Amino acid sequence: MKVGFIGLGIMGRPMCKNVLKAGYEVVAFDMNKAALDDVVAAGAKAAGSAKEVGANCDVLITMLPNSPHVKAVLFNENGAAEGLKAGTTVIDMSSINPVESQSIAAKLAETGVELLDAPVSGGEPKAIDGTISVMVGGKEETFNKYYDLMKTMAGSVVRVGNVGAGNTTKLANQMIVALNIAALSEAFVLCEKAGVDPQLVFDAIKGGLAGSTVMNAKAPMMISRNFEPGFRIELHIKDLQNALDTSHSINASLPLTAQVMEIMQALKIDGREKKDHAAILNYYEKINNVTVGEKK
Ligand code: NAD
Repeated sequence: MKVGFIGLGIMGRPMCKNVLKAGYEVVAFDMNKAALDDVVAAGAKAAGSAKEVGANCDVLITMLPNSPHVKAVLFNENGAAEGLKAGTTVIDMSSINPVESQSIAAKLAETGVELLDAPVSGGEPKAIDGTISVMVGGKEETFNKYYDLMKTMAGSVVRVGNVGAGNTTKLANQMIVALNIAALSEAFVLCEKAGVDPQLVFDAIKGGLAGSTVMNAKAPMMISRNFEPGFRIELHIKDLQNALDTSHSINASLPLTAQVMEIMQALKIDGREKKDHAAILNYYEKINNVTVGEKK
């Protein structure tokens, strides 16, 4: 099975390397030459365009920022769809709007190409050690056919429904993470103002009902005042925008998601969009005129 890989950024580059490590033949492309050179050094073959990747693979993995990038890579002039043969599959692992996944699937189907939407969670460290979680939408038989390939990059690979279901699941994931970080920030500001040490609060409650993977990852960052990404606020804004667009198009209302979106917009206006999403704390600190944690 020849694998195509387009999108070799923070996530795509280590994911591509894990596919190579598992012994697959990979042909890759990214408009960033340094990223392409890096995976070529790890054993991939370089292509000069997305079309060239499409023409030389049985299955194409894409890992791009958002749906405009996925559509450009597939359908622009010299795009992958010009090269892909009928019977091949695109596994789009980018986090995009599920309605866009469905329209991309419909367009690919016109030439006999299938789509799995397979976004991931876990971030760069898990992409490097091959333990990301993959949530997949698409036909069951296609999922089964490419399960082993996806598993080379992941700790878990779960089919959650038909095309679009993968990205709907990812939106749910991103809403839950954003709201958790906001709740943690709000609580830490209360504790700081009341004169109770947030580190001791974290130690006391992390094993109880309020404890979570988000708390374990983000509370230490907040307390040590480390806001380097990780997962950038600008990418989380993209995800919440996709959640709100999707909810409006299917007649759902997401009041808390909308609220956290506005907090992230305020942080962007304040020039903090490249910071980790743990910087939601900075919004609460500003409106409360307080600094949480160490290095005051
Ligand atoms: P990134 O910006 O680091 O990488 C994107 C890559 O796509 C870049 O190398 C860029 O050069 C390439 N690219 C963009 N347009 C292209 C085009 N037209 N042709 C060829 N290459 C093109 O992004 P990332 O952090 O790797 O994230 C990718 C996706 O994964 C996003 O949807 C993101 O939301 C999601 N995600 C990211 C994380 C994370 O922690 N960074 C975690 C889970 C999911």
